[in-house]
Amino acid sequence: MIAEGTAPIVSSSNPIPFRRSDIWYEDGSVILVAEATGFKVYKGVLAANSEVFRDMFDLSVPSTGGSVDGCPIVLLSDDALDVKHLLNALLDREFFRPMENPQPFAVAASLLRLGKKYAIRRVYDEALSCLTHEFPSTLEGWERAESTDYSRLQYYVGLEIDVINVVREINLPSLLPILFYLCAASYDSPTQIFRGVERGDGSVAILSRADQEILLTGRHLMVIEAHDLFWVQLSSLFNCNSAPCGQRKALVHRECFRPPGTLRALCGWSEDWYPGLCDPCRLNGPHAHSVYRKYLWESLPSFFELPEWDTLRAQDHTL
Ligand SMILES: [Zn+2]
Repeated sequence: MIAEGTAPIVSSSNPIPFRRSDIWYEDGSVILVAEATGFKVYKGVLAANSEVFRDMFDLSVPSTGGSVDGCPIVLLSDDALDVKHLLNALLDREFFRPMENPQPFAVAASLLRLGKKYAIRRVYDEALSCLTHEFPSTLEGWERAESTDYSRLQYYVGLEIDVINVVREINLPSLLPILFYLCAASYDSPTQIFRGVERGDGSVAILSRADQEILLTGRHLMVIEAHDLFWVQLSSLFNCNSAPCGQRKALVHRECFRPPGTLRALCGWSEDWYPGLCDPCRLNGPHAHSVYRKYLWESLPSFFELPEWDTLRAQDHTL
Protein backbone atom coordinates (compact mmCIF):
# COMPACT_ATOMS: atom_id res chain seq x y z
CA MET A 1 0.00 0.00 0.00
CA ILE A 2 1.17 3.54 -0.67
CA ALA A 3 0.23 6.43 1.61
CA GLU A 4 1.51 9.83 0.62
CA GLY A 5 -1.07 12.30 1.94
CA THR A 6 -1.42 13.57 5.48
CA ALA A 7 -4.58 12.79 7.43
CA PRO A 8 -7.23 10.60 5.80
CA ILE A 9 -9.88 12.54 3.90
CA VAL A 10 -13.30 11.97 5.44
CA SER A 11 -16.54 13.85 4.93
CA SER A 12 -20.24 13.13 5.21
CA SER A 13 -20.43 12.47 1.46
CA ASN A 14 -17.27 10.38 1.55
CA PRO A 15 -17.94 7.22 3.52
CA ILE A 16 -14.54 5.65 2.77
CA PRO A 17 -11.53 7.40 4.31
CA PHE A 18 -8.46 7.54 2.10
CA ARG A 19 -5.14 9.34 1.80
CA ARG A 20 -4.13 11.49 -1.13
CA SER A 21 -1.47 10.04 -3.37
CA ASP A 22 1.03 12.20 -5.24
CA ILE A 23 -1.20 11.82 -8.31
CA TRP A 24 -3.69 14.51 -7.39
CA TYR A 25 -4.75 17.08 -9.99
CA GLU A 26 -6.76 19.84 -8.29
CA ASP A 27 -8.95 20.26 -11.38
CA GLY A 28 -9.40 16.50 -11.78
CA SER A 29 -12.91 15.15 -12.35
CA VAL A 30 -12.81 11.79 -10.57
CA ILE A 31 -11.09 10.31 -7.53
CA LEU A 32 -10.02 6.71 -7.85
CA VAL A 33 -9.48 4.98 -4.50
CA ALA A 34 -7.50 1.76 -4.18
CA GLU A 35 -6.33 0.34 -0.86
CA ALA A 36 -7.38 3.58 0.89
CA THR A 37 -5.18 5.64 -1.45
CA GLY A 38 -6.82 8.36 -3.56
CA PHE A 39 -5.84 9.49 -7.06
CA LYS A 40 -7.55 12.60 -8.43
CA VAL A 41 -7.42 12.44 -12.20
CA TYR A 42 -9.45 13.18 -15.32
CA LYS A 43 -12.42 11.08 -16.38
CA GLY A 44 -11.92 12.07 -20.00
CA VAL A 45 -8.33 10.76 -20.10
CA LEU A 46 -9.35 7.44 -18.56
CA ALA A 47 -12.42 7.10 -20.79
CA ALA A 48 -10.40 7.90 -23.93
CA ASN A 49 -7.97 5.08 -23.12
CA SER A 50 -10.31 2.46 -21.74
CA GLU A 51 -13.78 1.37 -22.67
CA VAL A 52 -14.08 -0.25 -19.26
CA PHE A 53 -13.58 3.14 -17.56
CA ARG A 54 -15.83 4.74 -20.19
CA ASP A 55 -18.65 2.35 -19.33
CA MET A 56 -18.01 2.86 -15.63
CA PHE A 57 -18.37 6.66 -15.97
CA ASP A 58 -21.32 6.41 -18.40
CA LEU A 59 -23.46 4.65 -15.85
CA SER A 60 -26.33 6.86 -14.87
CA VAL A 61 -26.40 5.43 -11.36
CA PRO A 62 -24.47 7.58 -8.89
CA SER A 63 -21.04 6.44 -7.76
CA THR A 64 -21.26 4.27 -4.68
CA GLY A 65 -17.97 5.63 -3.44
CA GLY A 66 -19.44 9.02 -2.47
CA SER A 67 -17.75 12.31 -3.36
CA VAL A 68 -15.34 14.95 -2.09
CA ASP A 69 -16.13 18.57 -2.92
CA GLY A 70 -18.49 17.35 -5.62
CA CYS A 71 -15.86 15.14 -7.24
CA PRO A 72 -17.12 11.55 -7.48
CA ILE A 73 -15.14 8.75 -5.88
CA VAL A 74 -14.73 5.41 -7.62
CA LEU A 75 -13.57 2.53 -5.49
CA LEU A 76 -11.22 0.08 -7.18
CA SER A 77 -10.34 -3.38 -5.92
CA ASP A 78 -6.80 -3.13 -7.35
CA ASP A 79 -3.44 -2.83 -5.65
CA ALA A 80 -2.66 0.86 -5.08
CA LEU A 81 0.83 0.52 -6.55
CA ASP A 82 -0.61 -1.02 -9.73
CA VAL A 83 -3.03 1.91 -10.04
CA LYS A 84 -0.21 4.40 -9.48
CA HIS A 85 1.89 2.78 -12.22
CA LEU A 86 -1.06 2.70 -14.63
CA LEU A 87 -1.95 6.36 -14.07
CA ASN A 88 1.67 7.43 -14.42
CA ALA A 89 1.87 5.54 -17.73
CA LEU A 90 -1.33 7.22 -18.97
CA LEU A 91 -0.55 10.74 -17.78
CA ASP A 92 3.22 10.96 -18.30
CA ARG A 93 4.68 9.87 -21.65
CA GLU A 94 8.18 9.82 -20.12
CA PHE A 95 7.24 7.35 -17.37
CA PHE A 96 7.52 4.05 -19.25
CA ARG A 97 9.98 4.09 -22.18
CA PRO A 98 11.28 0.53 -22.65
CA MET A 99 12.67 1.30 -26.11
CA GLU A 100 15.05 3.81 -24.53
CA ASN A 101 15.97 2.26 -21.16
CA PRO A 102 15.45 -1.02 -19.31
CA GLN A 103 12.33 -0.67 -17.14
CA PRO A 104 11.47 -2.04 -13.67
CA PHE A 105 9.55 -5.32 -13.96
CA ALA A 106 7.16 -4.21 -11.19
CA VAL A 107 5.92 -1.43 -13.49
CA ALA A 108 5.56 -3.75 -16.49
CA ALA A 109 3.64 -6.21 -14.28
CA SER A 110 1.23 -3.47 -13.13
CA LEU A 111 0.64 -2.37 -16.72
CA LEU A 112 -0.03 -5.93 -17.86
CA ARG A 113 -2.37 -6.62 -14.95
CA LEU A 114 -4.44 -3.43 -15.21
CA GLY A 115 -3.98 -3.01 -18.95
CA LYS A 116 -5.71 -6.38 -19.27
CA LYS A 117 -8.41 -5.65 -16.68
CA TYR A 118 -9.32 -2.21 -18.06
CA ALA A 119 -8.63 -3.09 -21.73
CA ILE A 120 -5.98 -0.39 -22.24
CA ARG A 121 -4.22 -1.66 -25.31
CA ARG A 122 -1.33 0.83 -25.51
CA VAL A 123 0.11 0.18 -22.06
CA TYR A 124 -0.66 -3.54 -22.23
CA ASP A 125 1.12 -3.92 -25.58
CA GLU A 126 4.12 -1.84 -24.48
CA ALA A 127 4.57 -3.89 -21.32
CA LEU A 128 4.04 -7.13 -23.23
CA SER A 129 6.69 -6.17 -25.78
CA CYS A 130 9.25 -5.84 -22.93
CA LEU A 131 8.52 -9.37 -21.80
CA THR A 132 8.40 -10.96 -25.26
CA HIS A 133 11.68 -9.23 -26.11
CA GLU A 134 13.46 -10.64 -23.06
CA PHE A 135 11.64 -14.00 -23.00
CA PRO A 136 10.84 -14.84 -26.63
CA SER A 137 9.01 -17.81 -28.09
CA THR A 138 11.27 -18.20 -31.16
CA LEU A 139 14.90 -19.26 -31.45
CA GLU A 140 15.67 -16.14 -33.53
CA GLY A 141 14.16 -14.00 -30.79
CA TRP A 142 16.22 -15.84 -28.20
CA GLU A 143 19.46 -15.30 -30.17
CA ARG A 144 18.70 -11.57 -30.32
CA ALA A 145 17.77 -11.38 -26.62
CA GLU A 146 20.92 -13.29 -25.66
CA SER A 147 23.10 -10.84 -27.58
CA THR A 148 21.46 -7.71 -26.09
CA ASP A 149 21.31 -8.97 -22.49
CA TYR A 150 18.29 -7.37 -20.78
CA SER A 151 17.80 -4.19 -22.78
CA ARG A 152 14.10 -3.59 -21.93
CA LEU A 153 13.74 -4.93 -18.38
CA GLN A 154 16.03 -4.24 -15.42
CA TYR A 155 17.58 -7.52 -14.30
CA TYR A 156 17.71 -8.64 -10.67
CA VAL A 157 18.16 -12.01 -8.98
CA GLY A 158 14.72 -13.64 -8.93
CA LEU A 159 13.37 -11.79 -11.97
CA GLU A 160 12.64 -14.98 -13.95
CA ILE A 161 10.63 -16.37 -11.01
CA ASP A 162 8.61 -13.16 -10.65
CA VAL A 163 7.89 -13.14 -14.38
CA ILE A 164 6.68 -16.76 -14.33
CA ASN A 165 4.22 -15.90 -11.54
CA VAL A 166 2.84 -12.87 -13.42
CA VAL A 167 2.74 -14.72 -16.75
CA ARG A 168 0.66 -17.45 -15.09
CA GLU A 169 -1.68 -14.77 -13.68
CA ILE A 170 -2.06 -12.84 -16.97
CA ASN A 171 -2.13 -16.00 -19.09
CA LEU A 172 0.85 -15.66 -21.44
CA PRO A 173 2.00 -19.29 -21.65
CA SER A 174 4.29 -18.87 -24.68
CA LEU A 175 6.79 -17.11 -22.39
CA LEU A 176 6.99 -20.06 -20.01
CA PRO A 177 9.43 -22.41 -21.80
CA ILE A 178 12.32 -19.94 -21.96
CA LEU A 179 11.50 -18.66 -18.44
CA PHE A 180 11.64 -22.17 -17.01
CA TYR A 181 14.85 -22.81 -18.94
CA LEU A 182 16.44 -19.64 -17.53
CA CYS A 183 15.35 -20.58 -14.01
CA ALA A 184 16.75 -24.07 -14.54
CA ALA A 185 20.07 -22.68 -15.75
CA SER A 186 20.34 -19.94 -13.09
CA TYR A 187 18.88 -21.49 -9.95
CA ASP A 188 20.43 -24.91 -9.89
CA SER A 189 20.00 -26.12 -6.32
CA PRO A 190 16.82 -27.72 -4.95
CA THR A 191 17.09 -25.29 -2.02
CA GLN A 192 16.75 -22.32 -4.37
CA ILE A 193 13.85 -23.98 -6.14
CA PHE A 194 11.93 -24.93 -2.97
CA ARG A 195 12.78 -21.98 -0.72
CA GLY A 196 13.04 -19.31 -3.41
CA VAL A 197 15.84 -16.83 -4.06
CA GLU A 198 16.49 -13.56 -2.31
CA ARG A 199 15.99 -10.40 -4.32
CA GLY A 200 18.30 -7.43 -3.84
CA ASP A 201 15.94 -5.87 -1.29
CA GLY A 202 15.92 -8.99 0.91
CA SER A 203 12.45 -10.21 -0.12
CA VAL A 204 12.09 -13.69 -1.59
CA ALA A 205 11.01 -14.67 -5.11
CA ILE A 206 9.42 -18.12 -5.08
CA LEU A 207 7.42 -20.24 -7.53
CA SER A 208 4.13 -21.94 -6.75
CA ARG A 209 4.45 -25.50 -5.49
CA ALA A 210 3.22 -26.86 -8.85
CA ASP A 211 5.80 -24.81 -10.78
CA GLN A 212 8.58 -25.88 -8.40
CA GLU A 213 7.87 -29.48 -9.36
CA ILE A 214 7.74 -28.64 -13.07
CA LEU A 215 11.05 -26.78 -12.82
CA LEU A 216 12.87 -29.47 -10.86
CA THR A 217 11.65 -32.30 -13.10
CA GLY A 218 12.28 -30.36 -16.32
CA ARG A 219 15.74 -29.35 -15.19
CA HIS A 220 16.67 -32.95 -14.42
CA LEU A 221 15.48 -34.19 -17.84
CA MET A 222 17.09 -31.36 -19.72
CA VAL A 223 20.50 -31.73 -18.07
CA ILE A 224 20.59 -35.38 -19.17
CA GLU A 225 19.38 -34.65 -22.71
CA ALA A 226 21.73 -31.70 -23.22
CA HIS A 227 24.70 -33.62 -21.87
CA ASP A 228 24.07 -36.53 -24.22
CA LEU A 229 23.38 -34.44 -27.30
CA PHE A 230 25.98 -31.70 -27.00
CA TRP A 231 27.82 -31.30 -30.30
CA VAL A 232 30.88 -33.36 -29.40
CA GLN A 233 28.61 -36.37 -29.09
CA LEU A 234 28.04 -36.09 -32.81
CA SER A 235 31.70 -36.76 -33.61
CA SER A 236 30.91 -39.91 -35.53
CA LEU A 237 29.13 -37.79 -38.14
CA PHE A 238 32.19 -35.65 -38.81
CA ASN A 239 34.41 -38.36 -40.37
CA CYS A 240 36.89 -37.47 -37.68
CA ASN A 241 39.56 -40.08 -37.02
CA SER A 242 41.93 -37.73 -35.24
CA ALA A 243 42.79 -38.92 -31.73
CA PRO A 244 44.04 -35.45 -30.57
CA CYS A 245 40.83 -33.87 -31.93
CA GLY A 246 38.76 -36.48 -30.08
CA GLN A 247 40.61 -35.70 -26.86
CA ARG A 248 40.11 -31.99 -27.39
CA LYS A 249 36.35 -32.44 -27.92
CA ALA A 250 36.09 -34.60 -24.82
CA LEU A 251 37.85 -31.85 -22.86
CA VAL A 252 35.47 -29.17 -24.17
CA HIS A 253 32.54 -31.39 -23.23
CA ARG A 254 33.85 -31.88 -19.69
CA GLU A 255 34.44 -28.17 -19.22
CA CYS A 256 30.99 -27.25 -20.49
CA PHE A 257 29.27 -29.57 -18.02
CA ARG A 258 31.36 -28.82 -14.97
CA PRO A 259 30.35 -28.84 -12.14
CA PRO A 260 28.15 -31.92 -12.59
CA GLY A 261 24.53 -30.91 -13.09
CA THR A 262 25.40 -27.76 -15.06
CA LEU A 263 22.66 -27.03 -17.60
CA ARG A 264 24.10 -25.89 -20.89
CA ALA A 265 21.65 -26.25 -23.72
CA LEU A 266 20.77 -23.12 -25.67
CA CYS A 267 24.13 -21.34 -25.78
CA GLY A 268 25.56 -20.61 -29.24
CA TRP A 269 28.76 -22.00 -30.73
CA SER A 270 31.83 -20.64 -28.94
CA GLU A 271 35.00 -19.48 -30.70
CA ASP A 272 36.87 -20.95 -27.73
CA TRP A 273 36.03 -24.45 -28.97
CA TYR A 274 38.02 -24.18 -32.25
CA PRO A 275 41.62 -24.59 -31.06
CA GLY A 276 42.82 -28.19 -31.32
CA LEU A 277 40.03 -29.41 -33.63
CA CYS A 278 40.79 -31.12 -36.95
CA ASP A 279 39.59 -29.47 -40.18
CA PRO A 280 36.37 -31.51 -40.67
CA CYS A 281 35.35 -30.79 -37.07
CA ARG A 282 36.15 -27.08 -37.42
CA LEU A 283 33.97 -27.09 -40.51
CA ASN A 284 31.10 -29.24 -39.23
CA GLY A 285 31.09 -28.42 -35.52
CA PRO A 286 29.13 -25.13 -35.72
CA HIS A 287 26.53 -26.70 -38.01
CA ALA A 288 26.11 -29.76 -35.78
CA HIS A 289 25.77 -27.48 -32.78
CA SER A 290 23.15 -25.39 -34.54
CA VAL A 291 21.09 -28.51 -35.44
CA TYR A 292 21.28 -29.67 -31.83
CA ARG A 293 20.19 -26.27 -30.55
CA LYS A 294 17.21 -26.12 -32.93
CA TYR A 295 16.13 -29.56 -31.77
CA LEU A 296 16.36 -28.57 -28.11
CA TRP A 297 14.50 -25.31 -28.75
CA GLU A 298 11.64 -27.14 -30.46
CA SER A 299 11.50 -29.62 -27.57
CA LEU A 300 11.83 -26.96 -24.88
CA PRO A 301 8.11 -26.80 -23.88
CA SER A 302 7.94 -30.59 -23.47
CA PHE A 303 10.58 -30.55 -20.72
CA PHE A 304 8.31 -28.33 -18.63
CA GLU A 305 4.96 -30.09 -19.17
CA LEU A 306 3.82 -27.55 -21.73
CA PRO A 307 2.19 -28.09 -25.17
CA GLU A 308 3.96 -27.24 -28.43
CA TRP A 309 5.04 -23.70 -29.26
CA ASP A 310 2.19 -23.01 -31.71
CA THR A 311 -0.39 -24.10 -29.15
CA LEU A 312 1.21 -21.94 -26.46
CA ARG A 313 1.27 -18.88 -28.73
CA ALA A 314 -2.40 -19.43 -29.62
CA GLN A 315 -3.25 -19.49 -25.90
CA ASP A 316 -1.57 -16.13 -25.13
CA HIS A 317 -3.95 -13.45 -23.93
CA THR A 318 -4.12 -10.50 -26.32
CA LEU A 319 -6.28 -7.39 -26.24
ZN1 LIG B 1 37.91 -33.88 -35.51
